[in-house]
Amino acid sequence: MKIIISHDVDHLSVKEHLLNDLYLPKLFIRDIYHLLFSRISFGEYLLRLKEILNNKISYIKELCEYNKENNIPATFFLAVKKGRSLSYSNKQLNQAITLINTYEKTDCLIHGIEIKNIHNLKNEKLEFTRVTGINPSGIRMHYLSKKDNIQNLHNAKYSFDSSLYGIKNPYKMNGIIEFPIQLMDVFDVPNIKFSDSNFNVIKNNTINKIKDCEKRGLKYLVVDFHDRYFSEAYLNYFEWYKFLINYLISNNYVFSSFKDIDLKNIK
Ligand SMILES: [Zn+2]
Repeated sequence: MKIIISHDVDHLSVKEHLLNDLYLPKLFIRDIYHLLFSRISFGEYLLRLKEILNNKISYIKELCEYNKENNIPATFFLAVKKGRSLSYSNKQLNQAITLINTYEKTDCLIHGIEIKNIHNLKNEKLEFTRVTGINPSGIRMHYLSKKDNIQNLHNAKYSFDSSLYGIKNPYKMNGIIEFPIQLMDVFDVPNIKFSDSNFNVIKNNTINKIKDCEKRGLKYLVVDFHDRYFSEAYLNYFEWYKFLINYLISNNYVFSSFKDIDLKNIK
């Protein structure tokens, strides 16, 4: 079983959200709620406030540095279309891609919003290529929202998609290859207060899941981690990613990348 590490880039700065969407008020309410119901410590709450005040909610650089130290290839999914709290500008998008490309073993693909309307979907892909110069072979939908429109991705000339979540090998469906995600921060790490005992439960659940994937004969284990959470303000997520990478390395797993896989071999 080879490991594929991927990162969704949903936010690049606090400023992009001002007047453009409801991300900040929603975040404010969510953090207060988590504090009141003891899901985070007061210290963690303050760190989250500090991030907003310092306009620092993107951790691409820190994550790339960490991956580099550990010799990990990674694919980043970035968005060109605005909506559903994706509000960064084309200029910011290109700056992020330039930063990611300064690191070896990285790849940038599209984080899409359009799916139902084939015309809009094709335009989104064209727009991404026009702005970034990258013709994306693969896509991941924002919020993994895809429903029953997977054939549209084939019509828009994507070779593969990685938006579904589940313990399955990659498979071909309606002309497109699907790489299901097995491990993802927001699905595999619960919103509970960070403590040694709580974190041990999270670690054990993750180890059991990896073993289960191995037992079921998976050829690839796809991990999705948001760069936004590579921060001490999100301790469970932050520690989980580092634990996961350490666990995979110390158990001699080999890391691969979407771009290194021969898609013709997937049926
Ligand atoms: Zn997203």
